[in-house]
Amino acid sequence: MPAYQLLGGKYRDEVRVYCDCHTEAEADPIACADEAERVVEELGYDALKFDLDVPSGHEKDRANRHLRAPEIEHKASIVEAITERVGSRADVAFDCHWTFSGGSAKRLAKRLEEYDVWWLEDPVPPENHDVQREVTRCTSTPITVGENVYRTHGQRRLLEEQAVDIIAPDMPKVGGMRETRKIADLADLYYVPVAMHNVASPVATMASAHVGAAISNALAVEYHSYELGWWADLVEEPVIEDGAIEVPEKPGLGVTLDLDTVADHMVEGEELFDEA
Ligand SMILES: [Mg+2]
Repeated sequence: MPAYQLLGGKYRDEVRVYCDCHTEAEADPIACADEAERVVEELGYDALKFDLDVPSGHEKDRANRHLRAPEIEHKASIVEAITERVGSRADVAFDCHWTFSGGSAKRLAKRLEEYDVWWLEDPVPPENHDVQREVTRCTSTPITVGENVYRTHGQRRLLEEQAVDIIAPDMPKVGGMRETRKIADLADLYYVPVAMHNVASPVATMASAHVGAAISNALAVEYHSYELGWWADLVEEPVIEDGAIEVPEKPGLGVTLDLDTVADHMVEGEELFDEA
Protein backbone atom coordinates (compact mmCIF):
# COMPACT_ATOMS: atom_id res chain seq x y z
CA MET A 1 0.00 0.00 0.00
CA PRO A 2 1.10 3.62 -0.41
CA ALA A 3 3.35 5.02 2.33
CA TYR A 4 0.78 7.61 3.44
CA GLN A 5 -1.59 4.75 4.21
CA LEU A 6 1.03 3.19 6.49
CA LEU A 7 1.17 6.53 8.31
CA GLY A 8 -2.56 6.42 8.98
CA GLY A 9 -4.25 7.69 5.81
CA LYS A 10 -4.39 11.05 4.11
CA TYR A 11 -5.91 14.47 4.73
CA ARG A 12 -5.26 15.66 1.16
CA ASP A 13 -4.56 14.23 -2.30
CA GLU A 14 -2.03 16.94 -3.15
CA VAL A 15 0.69 18.49 -1.03
CA ARG A 16 1.63 22.09 -1.73
CA VAL A 17 5.24 22.74 -2.72
CA TYR A 18 7.12 25.98 -2.23
CA CYS A 19 10.00 26.89 -4.50
CA ASP A 20 13.25 28.13 -3.03
CA CYS A 21 14.30 30.93 -5.41
CA HIS A 22 17.72 32.28 -6.27
CA THR A 23 19.08 35.02 -8.47
CA GLU A 24 22.69 36.05 -9.03
CA ALA A 25 21.73 39.61 -8.14
CA GLU A 26 20.44 38.43 -4.75
CA ALA A 27 20.80 41.88 -3.16
CA ASP A 28 18.88 43.71 -5.91
CA PRO A 29 15.19 44.03 -4.98
CA ILE A 30 14.10 44.40 -8.62
CA ALA A 31 16.06 41.31 -9.72
CA CYS A 32 14.48 39.35 -6.87
CA ALA A 33 11.01 40.56 -7.84
CA ASP A 34 11.68 39.63 -11.49
CA GLU A 35 12.69 36.11 -10.45
CA ALA A 36 9.66 35.78 -8.18
CA GLU A 37 7.39 36.73 -11.06
CA ARG A 38 9.15 34.28 -13.40
CA VAL A 39 8.77 31.39 -10.93
CA VAL A 40 5.07 32.18 -10.47
CA GLU A 41 4.25 32.77 -14.13
CA GLU A 42 6.55 30.30 -15.91
CA LEU A 43 7.06 27.52 -13.35
CA GLY A 44 3.59 27.64 -11.84
CA TYR A 45 4.37 27.97 -8.12
CA ASP A 46 2.12 29.90 -5.74
CA ALA A 47 4.56 29.64 -2.84
CA LEU A 48 8.13 30.95 -2.82
CA LYS A 49 11.10 31.50 -0.54
CA PHE A 50 14.00 33.92 -0.90
CA ASP A 51 17.16 34.40 1.15
CA LEU A 52 17.27 37.54 3.27
CA ASP A 53 20.78 37.13 4.70
CA VAL A 54 22.22 38.84 1.63
CA PRO A 55 24.82 41.62 1.61
CA SER A 56 23.40 45.14 1.49
CA GLY A 57 26.62 47.10 1.11
CA HIS A 58 25.94 48.79 4.44
CA GLU A 59 27.71 46.25 6.69
CA LYS A 60 30.41 47.44 9.07
CA ASP A 61 31.19 44.06 10.59
CA ARG A 62 30.43 40.55 9.31
CA ALA A 63 30.84 38.76 12.65
CA ASN A 64 28.89 40.60 15.35
CA ARG A 65 25.36 39.64 14.16
CA HIS A 66 24.16 43.23 14.51
CA LEU A 67 21.97 44.74 11.79
CA ARG A 68 22.45 48.44 11.16
CA ALA A 69 19.39 50.50 10.28
CA PRO A 70 20.31 50.77 6.57
CA GLU A 71 20.73 46.98 6.44
CA ILE A 72 17.21 46.50 7.80
CA GLU A 73 15.86 49.01 5.29
CA HIS A 74 17.62 47.14 2.47
CA LYS A 75 16.03 43.85 3.56
CA ALA A 76 12.64 45.54 3.81
CA SER A 77 13.10 46.84 0.25
CA ILE A 78 13.68 43.26 -1.00
CA VAL A 79 10.59 42.01 0.84
CA GLU A 80 8.51 44.93 -0.42
CA ALA A 81 9.61 44.49 -4.05
CA ILE A 82 8.85 40.77 -4.10
CA THR A 83 5.58 40.83 -2.19
CA GLU A 84 4.22 43.79 -4.15
CA ARG A 85 5.16 42.14 -7.45
CA VAL A 86 3.53 38.78 -6.80
CA GLY A 87 0.66 40.21 -4.75
CA SER A 88 -1.95 37.58 -3.99
CA ARG A 89 -0.54 35.21 -6.63
CA ALA A 90 1.93 33.67 -4.17
CA ASP A 91 2.85 33.34 -0.52
CA VAL A 92 6.46 34.37 0.08
CA ALA A 93 8.77 33.28 2.91
CA PHE A 94 12.22 34.66 3.71
CA ASP A 95 15.20 32.76 5.14
CA CYS A 96 17.88 34.33 7.37
CA HIS A 97 20.04 31.20 8.04
CA TRP A 98 20.68 31.87 11.78
CA THR A 99 22.52 35.10 11.10
CA PHE A 100 21.36 37.87 13.42
CA SER A 101 21.44 38.87 17.07
CA GLY A 102 18.24 38.67 19.11
CA GLY A 103 17.83 42.43 19.10
CA SER A 104 18.45 42.75 15.37
CA ALA A 105 16.10 39.85 14.62
CA LYS A 106 13.34 41.56 16.62
CA ARG A 107 13.84 44.85 14.78
CA LEU A 108 13.81 43.06 11.42
CA ALA A 109 10.73 40.97 12.20
CA LYS A 110 8.80 44.01 13.41
CA ARG A 111 9.91 46.07 10.40
CA LEU A 112 8.51 43.34 8.11
CA GLU A 113 5.12 43.12 9.84
CA GLU A 114 3.47 45.46 7.35
CA TYR A 115 4.25 43.05 4.47
CA ASP A 116 2.55 40.08 6.17
CA VAL A 117 5.12 37.60 4.83
CA TRP A 118 4.41 33.87 4.84
CA TRP A 119 7.18 33.44 7.35
CA LEU A 120 10.62 34.64 8.44
CA GLU A 121 12.98 31.68 8.87
CA ASP A 122 15.85 31.18 11.31
CA PRO A 123 16.53 34.83 12.18
CA VAL A 124 18.74 33.90 15.18
CA PRO A 125 21.26 31.09 15.82
CA PRO A 126 19.63 27.79 16.81
CA GLU A 127 21.21 26.95 20.16
CA ASN A 128 19.57 29.36 22.60
CA HIS A 129 15.86 28.68 23.09
CA ASP A 130 15.40 31.71 25.34
CA VAL A 131 16.45 34.10 22.59
CA GLN A 132 14.40 32.19 20.01
CA ARG A 133 11.29 32.40 22.17
CA GLU A 134 11.70 36.12 22.77
CA VAL A 135 12.06 36.87 19.06
CA THR A 136 9.02 34.78 18.13
CA ARG A 137 6.84 36.30 20.82
CA CYS A 138 7.74 39.93 20.08
CA THR A 139 6.32 40.04 16.56
CA SER A 140 3.29 39.20 14.47
CA THR A 141 5.63 38.11 11.64
CA PRO A 142 5.42 34.29 11.71
CA ILE A 143 8.77 32.76 12.70
CA THR A 144 9.84 29.39 11.28
CA VAL A 145 12.56 27.24 12.84
CA GLY A 146 13.59 23.59 12.92
CA GLU A 147 15.61 22.36 9.94
CA ASN A 148 18.74 21.74 12.05
CA VAL A 149 16.98 20.25 15.04
CA TYR A 150 17.02 16.47 15.50
CA ARG A 151 14.29 14.04 16.51
CA THR A 152 11.09 14.91 18.34
CA HIS A 153 13.08 15.51 21.50
CA GLY A 154 15.05 18.21 19.71
CA GLN A 155 11.87 20.00 18.58
CA ARG A 156 10.03 19.62 21.89
CA ARG A 157 11.14 22.81 23.64
CA LEU A 158 10.52 24.95 20.56
CA LEU A 159 6.91 23.80 20.61
CA GLU A 160 6.28 23.58 24.34
CA GLU A 161 7.68 27.07 24.91
CA GLN A 162 5.79 28.43 21.90
CA ALA A 163 9.08 29.65 20.48
CA VAL A 164 8.02 28.87 16.91
CA ASP A 165 5.00 29.77 14.76
CA ILE A 166 5.69 27.24 11.99
CA ILE A 167 7.93 24.20 12.52
CA ALA A 168 10.28 23.09 9.72
CA PRO A 169 11.60 19.56 10.29
CA ASP A 170 13.86 18.08 7.60
CA MET A 171 12.39 14.62 7.05
CA PRO A 172 15.59 12.69 6.18
CA LYS A 173 17.62 14.51 8.84
CA VAL A 174 15.13 14.55 11.68
CA GLY A 175 14.71 10.79 11.81
CA GLY A 176 12.54 9.77 8.87
CA MET A 177 8.87 9.63 7.98
CA ARG A 178 7.46 8.31 11.25
CA GLU A 179 9.57 10.71 13.32
CA THR A 180 8.35 13.64 11.19
CA ARG A 181 4.80 12.49 11.76
CA LYS A 182 5.47 12.37 15.48
CA ILE A 183 6.82 15.94 15.42
CA ALA A 184 3.78 17.05 13.43
CA ASP A 185 1.47 15.48 16.00
CA LEU A 186 3.28 17.28 18.83
CA ALA A 187 3.14 20.54 16.83
CA ASP A 188 -0.58 20.06 16.34
CA LEU A 189 -1.09 20.14 20.11
CA TYR A 190 0.18 23.73 19.92
CA TYR A 191 -1.75 24.50 16.70
CA VAL A 192 1.56 24.90 14.85
CA PRO A 193 1.66 24.13 11.09
CA VAL A 194 4.49 22.13 9.51
CA ALA A 195 6.54 23.41 6.56
CA MET A 196 8.90 20.58 5.72
CA HIS A 197 12.46 21.64 5.00
CA ASN A 198 13.74 19.70 2.01
CA VAL A 199 16.89 19.93 -0.08
CA ALA A 200 16.73 16.29 -1.15
CA SER A 201 16.25 14.19 -4.27
CA PRO A 202 12.84 13.36 -5.77
CA VAL A 203 12.80 10.18 -3.66
CA ALA A 204 13.02 11.93 -0.29
CA THR A 205 10.85 14.76 -1.62
CA MET A 206 8.14 12.22 -2.36
CA ALA A 207 8.62 10.73 1.11
CA SER A 208 8.05 14.20 2.59
CA ALA A 209 4.92 14.50 0.44
CA HIS A 210 3.54 11.23 1.85
CA VAL A 211 4.07 12.61 5.36
CA GLY A 212 2.51 15.89 4.24
CA ALA A 213 -0.56 14.04 3.05
CA ALA A 214 -0.84 12.07 6.29
CA ILE A 215 -0.66 14.95 8.81
CA SER A 216 -3.44 17.45 9.32
CA ASN A 217 -1.15 20.43 9.87
CA ALA A 218 0.99 20.27 6.70
CA LEU A 219 1.60 23.68 5.17
CA ALA A 220 4.02 22.82 2.37
CA VAL A 221 7.10 20.87 1.31
CA GLU A 222 10.18 22.72 0.10
CA TYR A 223 11.69 22.31 -3.38
CA HIS A 224 15.26 23.50 -3.52
CA SER A 225 16.54 22.29 -6.90
CA TYR A 226 14.89 24.30 -9.66
CA GLU A 227 18.30 25.19 -11.07
CA LEU A 228 19.09 21.46 -11.59
CA GLY A 229 17.56 20.60 -14.96
CA TRP A 230 17.99 16.84 -14.35
CA TRP A 231 16.50 16.68 -10.82
CA ALA A 232 13.10 15.42 -11.98
CA ASP A 233 14.76 12.88 -14.32
CA LEU A 234 16.15 10.96 -11.31
CA VAL A 235 12.81 9.14 -11.10
CA GLU A 236 10.57 7.77 -13.81
CA GLU A 237 7.34 9.32 -12.51
CA PRO A 238 6.40 13.00 -12.40
CA VAL A 239 6.90 14.45 -8.90
CA ILE A 240 6.14 18.18 -8.76
CA GLU A 241 3.46 19.45 -11.12
CA ASP A 242 1.87 22.93 -10.99
CA GLY A 243 3.46 23.66 -7.64
CA ALA A 244 2.16 20.56 -5.90
CA ILE A 245 2.82 16.84 -5.46
CA GLU A 246 -0.05 14.47 -6.04
CA VAL A 247 0.53 11.61 -3.65
CA PRO A 248 0.77 8.36 -5.65
CA GLU A 249 -1.46 5.39 -4.98
CA LYS A 250 1.27 2.90 -5.91
CA PRO A 251 2.93 0.86 -3.15
CA GLY A 252 5.58 2.55 -1.02
CA LEU A 253 6.71 5.97 -2.13
CA GLY A 254 5.42 5.38 -5.66
CA VAL A 255 8.57 6.50 -7.46
CA THR A 256 11.15 4.46 -9.36
CA LEU A 257 14.77 5.53 -9.70
CA ASP A 258 15.97 6.13 -13.26
CA LEU A 259 19.33 4.41 -12.97
CA ASP A 260 20.68 5.91 -16.21
CA THR A 261 20.17 9.43 -14.84
CA VAL A 262 21.55 8.39 -11.47
CA ALA A 263 24.66 6.98 -13.18
CA ASP A 264 25.15 10.25 -15.06
CA HIS A 265 25.37 12.21 -11.83
CA MET A 266 27.30 10.03 -9.44
CA VAL A 267 30.27 11.45 -7.61
CA GLU A 268 33.63 10.11 -8.77
CA GLY A 269 34.29 6.82 -7.02
CA GLU A 270 30.59 6.05 -6.43
CA GLU A 271 29.12 2.90 -7.95
CA LEU A 272 25.55 1.78 -8.60
CA PHE A 273 24.48 -1.02 -6.30
CA ASP A 274 24.94 -4.59 -7.46
CA GLU A 275 21.51 -5.92 -8.39
CA ALA A 276 22.63 -9.46 -7.57
MG1 LIG B 1 16.30 27.42 5.89
